[in-house]
Formats: sequence, structure tokens, C-alpha cells
Amino acid sequence: MSADSQRVFPPGATIGVMGGGQLGRMFAIAARRMGYRVHTFSPDEDTPTGQLADREVAASYEDEAAVREFARGVDVLTFEFENIPVQCIAWAADHCVTRPAGRVLHICQHRLREKEFLDQAGLPLAPFIHVSTAGELAAAVPEIGLPAVLKTASFGYDGKGQRKLQPGDNLVAAWAPFAGKGAVLEGFVPFECELSVLVARGIDGALRTFPITRNAHANHILDVTVAPFGDEQIEAAARELACAVAEALDLVGLLAVEMFLRPDGSLLINELAPRPHNSGHWSFDAAVTSQFEQQLRAVCGLPLGATDLLRPAAMANLLGDLWTNGEPNWAAAAAFPEVKIHLYGKAEPRPGRKMGHLVAFGDTPDEAETRVRAARAALTGLA
Ligand code: AMP
Repeated sequence: MSADSQRVFPPGATIGVMGGGQLGRMFAIAARRMGYRVHTFSPDEDTPTGQLADREVAASYEDEAAVREFARGVDVLTFEFENIPVQCIAWAADHCVTRPAGRVLHICQHRLREKEFLDQAGLPLAPFIHVSTAGELAAAVPEIGLPAVLKTASFGYDGKGQRKLQPGDNLVAAWAPFAGKGAVLEGFVPFECELSVLVARGIDGALRTFPITRNAHANHILDVTVAPFGDEQIEAAARELACAVAEALDLVGLLAVEMFLRPDGSLLINELAPRPHNSGHWSFDAAVTSQFEQQLRAVCGLPLGATDLLRPAAMANLLGDLWTNGEPNWAAAAAFPEVKIHLYGKAEPRPGRKMGHLVAFGDTPDEAETRVRAARAALTGLA
């Protein structure tokens, strides 16, 4: 065990965040609240994270000199999204502690590597085959069966770079957008619902999971998340799986594990994200320790915080589409006294872009969900 692996960075230390999005923004809020300094690095300026950071560096992740200079100025480095070249983390690791390790990023930023890792660890996931040509796709289809889902091997998120294949589809045409990219053909999973588990693992190997959430997607993008899930047996099984993944990765940090719940009650792992996750945003308002503070504690080597849910809660994403007819009516959402408004400081509300979210509390998860949906509808006068 290297000395670095046990290093603790107490409040006052400087944390580097690779990436400048909303996950880094909420992390920065948590970190600054606890007296840390935050530096952020991304290709853009005036980013959601940069607006809350002590220092914002705008440079390419491939700019070795800029990455090294940034890393020299921080004590510990983390990331807020996983599509960062592994080389970038390797450069940084010459100058500061990086948590999670570049190895974790390497696995989780590539769908095929991630699936092979989970498979080798004996964890349950949908059947999959690596395909790199139209011919391999044609050979894989009878193995996996139809319907199936064809996904790019890397750099996919929010359903980008994937396509459902149905019986009768022309496989040559289906393959065209994937040509030259490398892909995974995956069995389609008929599921009851999707859920996710956030788990943190500290430098001492301690594990803490958050209350399990039920997730609803619209157009492949997370739409609404509700906590708690509400079935103890399923929750226990989901926690156990997430902890097994974190241990197999030898993670120090926070990990989101997205799962499918099948009609027979069994769980399959869909995807991993070694960072805070959209489905954990409710924790900022409704948990003793938010996912962002937990990431902070884990990467700084502090003991992990309690994750208890304070009240049933629901989160609804606010996509750029809500701006189609002008600025949403914020006062109408604020008129719900049990609703929290979160906005990420993004200037351009493009369709499908995550601009913010709402969190509502309720006496029950259903009440919280009804309330958060009503508050979101009120933003555009549909309530
Ligand atoms: P992903 O980008 O892999 O998380 O996929 C985005 C969404 O597509 C998931 O949250 C599911 O709703 C759906 N999806 C992805 N893979 C499958 C699958 N194998 N079976 C059924 N639905 C899927």
C-alpha cells in the first residue's frame, strides 16, 4: 500500500476537478462549504463548475503542459465526468494524488471494458458481444437474439450512440452509424423498472450506500428519480451488488450503479459511473450527507458521512426544451414551498441539455413525485 493511498486532505486543501459541468458545480458547493479550495479544468470558460470554483482553467484535456501545470496547483484531483482521456489523469498523477484512480476511469469510460470487467467479476449483466463490423453484427444477432440494443463501445451517455434492433431490421443499414467505432450488441432486457445505487468507498475500504432510487427516463435521458425505492428485499440486493462492484474496482470515491429490475425480481447491472450521478441529485436536499459531500469525503480520505434520507423526495430534470417559449416561470415553481430549484448557470438552453432540476419533498415517495411533476409543469404554465 503506497503512502499516497492513505493520505488525508483536510479542509483547507485544494481539490482539482477535471470537467466543468453541473456535477462539478454541486461538488464545488459541497467542498467550499467545508472550507476546501476548488480548481476546475475543462475546455470551456464560465462553466457551471468554474462559476463556483476558486480557479478555472480552460484548456484541452490533451494539452500536457496545461494538465501538468493544473495538477501541480492542487493537492488531490478528481473528475466529474468520465470521458476524459486516461492519459490526462496519468499526467496529473505525477504531481498530485488522483482519486478515483485512472484505472477506474479507464474501465468505466469504455462500455466493452466495463462489461468485461463486470463479467469477469461474476456480476450479473445482460448478455453482450463485441462487434466491429457489419458481418460480426450479423453473426452476433442469432447469439444474443432480438430485440437487442446496439451501443457504441465508448463515449456514449444519455442513450447517445445506441439503437434498438428489432426482428426484420436491415442490419447493414443499422450498422452504418457504428462503422469504424466498435460496438457492443446487448440483449434487450424487459424490465419492471430502472433503479440506481450510489456507493462510496473510503481510503480504508469502508462502504456506504445511499437509499436506492427508482428512475424514469424520457427519450433515453433521466427524467424523474424517486427515493426511497420502497422494497427492502430489492434494496438489500441492489446495495450488495453495488458494494461488490466498488470492491472489485478497488474504488476510492463515489460510484453510481444503474440497474434493471426484471419481472422475476432479479437485478442486472446496466452501467457504472465513477462519480456523482443525476439520479443522486435529490441527496443534496434530502440526505444527511449529499452524494457530492460523500465524493468529497472519499477523495479527501475523510470518514464517510451518514446517508439517511431525511424525507421522501423526488427529482425532475429541467431540460433546455422547457425554454422553447421563453424563460420558464420560476415564480410558479417557487410557489411550491416544498420544492427546491437548482439551476446550473448554463447560458444556452438547447433541447435535451440539462439546465437544472427540481427536488420536491413529500410524506410519501408518490406525493413527492406528484409534487415535483406539478412544479415542473407550472414552469411552462401547464399546471
Ligand atoms: P444507457 O446509455 O446504456 O444507460 O441506456 C440508456 C437507457 O436505454 C437505459 O436507461 C434504458 O432505459 C435503455 N436501455 C439501455 N440498454 C437496454 C437494454 N439492454 N434493455 C432494455 N433497455 C435498455
